[in-house]
Amino acid sequence: MPDIKTLTVLGTGVLGSQIAYQAAFHGFAVTAYDLDDQAIEKARARFAQLAGIYRTQVAGAKDGQAEAAPANLRLTTDLGTAVADADLVIEAVPELLELKRDIYRKLAELAPAKTIFATNSSTLLPSDLKDATGRPDRFLAIHYANNIWAQNIAEVMGTTDTDPAVFDAVVEFARNSGLEPIEIRKEKAGYVLNSLLVPLLNAAAGLLLQGIASPETIDKTWRIATGAPTGPFQIYDVVGLGTAYNIAASSADSGSKAFAQYLKENYIDHGKLGVSTGEGFYTY
Ligand code: NAD
Repeated sequence: MPDIKTLTVLGTGVLGSQIAYQAAFHGFAVTAYDLDDQAIEKARARFAQLAGIYRTQVAGAKDGQAEAAPANLRLTTDLGTAVADADLVIEAVPELLELKRDIYRKLAELAPAKTIFATNSSTLLPSDLKDATGRPDRFLAIHYANNIWAQNIAEVMGTTDTDPAVFDAVVEFARNSGLEPIEIRKEKAGYVLNSLLVPLLNAAAGLLLQGIASPETIDKTWRIATGAPTGPFQIYDVVGLGTAYNIAASSADSGSKAFAQYLKENYIDHGKLGVSTGEGFYTY
């Protein structure tokens, strides 16, 4: 099984910065790559914010662990330098098929033969990207949830071409970087988490739009009857109503389109985007 000690993260946005910081916090040597100096400055600010979060919110953090993490993190705008010694590259660039395929074509030329490539894509399948990597046997998906220090799962999903030893190595890497690995045996859009969550959120939206019950009642039902800590509209507020709108508006389904319109008129046009703005279905 390949041994993963060095990690390179491509893209230092919302998820890339968290993936890099989480691994650095757990002692991996991490290189984070982004396009230009402006993006690198933003990454530094994200890392500083994450240091505070890890110091105060991560249970079991050893003394000085959060302070030690930055020493394991290096930032660069040079892709060749970024991947020169990478055992694993995790790609967390924007969710655009051609942009991702383009970066894998470049990686195929620049990365050493040993390097495993992994995508953090939420909606694309690794099969959509594998031929661009030039090494489909060393390519798979590792999908994190936002706020990974708290929602700490890593869904690992290969294609039929992924070498089982590579799959196992990435599962082991996830475990060693403080995450609960979720082993997915067959490719599935939405992985396990979104395959469960999206139907729940859609059903809740349908109940609201049909006037069956209020968001508070729907959430209360789910919480009390299943023991879950939050209901679907509380989850919408955490995900962000802008993201919920984008997903609903781009769906071909008429119910989803109606929900997108509802979100726009009642929340988004009034600057209410959920937890991030202090108000959504609930006030924070
Ligand atoms: P983001 O927009 O916050 O960050 C993207 C980063 O990529 C930016 O820093 C941008 O400068 C950089 N970038 C753009 N083009 C690049 C290129 N060619 N090379 C290198 N870097 C480039 O996006 P995000 O929310 O972090 O999402 C990134 C990926 O993670 C997507 O595939 C998304 O599906 C996935 N994901 C997101 C979430 C989430 O909650 N945001 C959760 C799980 C997975």
